[in-house]
Amino acid sequence: MKNVLIDRLSYSLNEMQREGLFKNEIEIRSPQAARVDVGHQNKVLNLCANNYLGLADNDRLISAAKNALDTYGFGMASVRFICGTQDKHKELEEKLAEFLGKDDAILFASCFDANCGLFEALLGPQDAVVSDNLNHASIIDGIRLSKAQRYRYHNNDPVDLEIKLKQARTAGSENIIIATDGVFSMDGTYANLPEISRLAKIYDALVMVDDCHATGFVGTKGKGTSEYFGVNVDILTGTLGKALGGAIGGYIAGPQRVIDMLRQRARPYLFSNSLPPVAIAAGLEAINIINESDYLRKKLHKNSIYWRKGLKALGFDLIEGEHPIIPVMLGDALLSQKMAERLFALGVYVAGFFFPVVPKGQSRIRTQMNAAFTTEDLDQALHAFEKVGRELGVIT
Ligand SMILES: *Cc1c(COP(=O)(O)O)cnc(C)c1O
Repeated sequence: MKNVLIDRLSYSLNEMQREGLFKNEIEIRSPQAARVDVGHQNKVLNLCANNYLGLADNDRLISAAKNALDTYGFGMASVRFICGTQDKHKELEEKLAEFLGKDDAILFASCFDANCGLFEALLGPQDAVVSDNLNHASIIDGIRLSKAQRYRYHNNDPVDLEIKLKQARTAGSENIIIATDGVFSMDGTYANLPEISRLAKIYDALVMVDDCHATGFVGTKGKGTSEYFGVNVDILTGTLGKALGGAIGGYIAGPQRVIDMLRQRARPYLFSNSLPPVAIAAGLEAINIINESDYLRKKLHKNSIYWRKGLKALGFDLIEGEHPIIPVMLGDALLSQKMAERLFALGVYVAGFFFPVVPKGQSRIRTQMNAAFTTEDLDQALHAFEKVGRELGVIT
């Protein structure tokens, strides 16, 4: 096909390929797990899934999903408010709200949708959102879709946050929402919620936290970053697509009137299909597992400490922290691609992250721990990192 747009796309795609910024997909032939089948002789260790608690192939979740298929069928063929609400949808919303200590919760097809629906439904041009500049793309898009005034503060910088809150107040904003990721997903660092809440009180703002990389495993009982810091936040968004089974679904939890209004006005809720019963049933079972025992959280924590320590001892440049996201900093995009390829050949599956996912010059390999790894798994992966790190001159 000959067309100006197609020509331009070809040029840009070739450019991406040339700069090593092109993303290829690897096909997995087995369930998501600590080791996955990618067609190699042996399964490879998977160090890049958001499968924090190892629930993606959990027997209890699978059998809950199978039972739901038999009892509730496959699809809903409707949005929630027409004929897409089963008793189980309400049960999961109540369970999420209770687990997170909020009045109520509302489900979306994904957390991307939740974040896209949130701001537009609640705020008008007389209001403001003050947003961390490292926030997830879905928060950025959600803010773009709203008519609220926009302010961005430097990542996790309370001084800059206060400047922006002052500006919003001086400009006469009626309502202010501070929006932040609970955990910054490229870095594995926590939002400074104690400072954010303190400033929110002073400037009479509400705090919205996206806890996609925290719910289920951060905090003693897995309630997320607010439990970790012992502070209260007003509105939480999250996903069923990471620690809570890893399939699909998002939610917002918060004050009753906020959730009530979202059910009336949030566009991705009103105009997109209801979650399938299999996803709902597995989500309920995931919360049961999380509530019953600390075992998986403890195992995950132990693995994260072991893995961080091992990489550090080898001399890799890490971003400090204690979250199971553990980025190995490399700088150059091509180097991160190359290192990921070499590790893959040695049976360790990781992903290189580079622009536009992270800033230019800050390319990295983001490793992620989960509760399903054994110490032998981690030793094998450390061995591969050592070999490839030396080969490519990343460590000496
Ligand atoms: C993964 C993620 C999302 C998107 O969640 P989905 O349910 O996959 O759409 C949103 N926000 C953050 C911070 C995330 O890490």
